[in-house]
Amino acid sequence: MSGNGTGRRQPDTDLTLQDRARGCAVGAAVGDALGMPLEFKPPRPPDDLVREMIAGRLPAGTFTDDTEMALALADSLLEQTPLDASDLAYRFVAWFRAAPSDIGLHTRSVLARMARGEFWDEAVDAVQQERPDAAGNGSLMRTWPVALAQQSRLDDLLVDSWKQSRVTHAHPDCLTACAFVNAVIYHLLHGHSPEHAVLNAAALVKMPESFWEMIQGSADRGRDELANTGWVRHTLESAVWGLLSTHSFEEALVHVVNLGNDADTAGAVVGALAGAAYGIDAIPPRWMAALCGEWPLMSHKIWRVDDFIALADRLIALDEGRHDE
Ligand SMILES: [Mg+2]
Repeated sequence: MSGNGTGRRQPDTDLTLQDRARGCAVGAAVGDALGMPLEFKPPRPPDDLVREMIAGRLPAGTFTDDTEMALALADSLLEQTPLDASDLAYRFVAWFRAAPSDIGLHTRSVLARMARGEFWDEAVDAVQQERPDAAGNGSLMRTWPVALAQQSRLDDLLVDSWKQSRVTHAHPDCLTACAFVNAVIYHLLHGHSPEHAVLNAAALVKMPESFWEMIQGSADRGRDELANTGWVRHTLESAVWGLLSTHSFEEALVHVVNLGNDADTAGAVVGALAGAAYGIDAIPPRWMAALCGEWPLMSHKIWRVDDFIALADRLIALDEGRHDE
């Protein structure tokens, strides 16, 4: 599917790792912001899809908790790679204490316990024991920085993907989804087509048969069949569907965020994937111009597209720098 598009974009083989890494970081934030006003809404009518950054509970173009938690993860990786789970937990608690405008229920339960002084592993295990079947998308939405920081080390990439999920989301499906998405990003960064990236990632990441059937069947599903809830399997299904059933960054994101429901999170995940597939230059300039959000919270520092580009460059340089060790 990759490379047989309309001809309006560069052939994928001309893209550099840097183009794709920048596309991944900016794409995730753009998908979050595009989906923000559609969150918790019903699917948009197919003949009236939202294609512009519009205002919702936040001003047009503003990213949400999905991107904020990814930036906390990126800060932790910049401090120490491979990932230190305790450092990441500390950064999540600092974010939680700064009163983010949005936070998932499961994430709130875990971080509230940590804020009261519980160790991160005790907090996450206690919440998981209360609701053993809970498998939300709260760790999947923020997982992409690991794929950039570990862009040449597949084993470390998989371990750090599990580890970053484990800090708040310990269900096996959450760990599997994070590892799978980052393995797809890994293969996209290194020039594989979306189809090959998905197949290669599935061969690497051990998963239940039902999990693979869900991924395998996603490309052929109709939009009416996609529930796009906060369940991690639904988010992954929507994101893979968006990547494999379209031929451009813009179409992938438009189709996924217009599913409504957990639109911003599915938008962030497909944005990371499609950005890595098509590169930074495939992202509509009007979306990049609108992108904004405060980071760290209460710092008054407003992040814009250039900040995400600089972050992507720093994350991939991190991995290159470690070759000499
Ligand atoms: Mg959100």
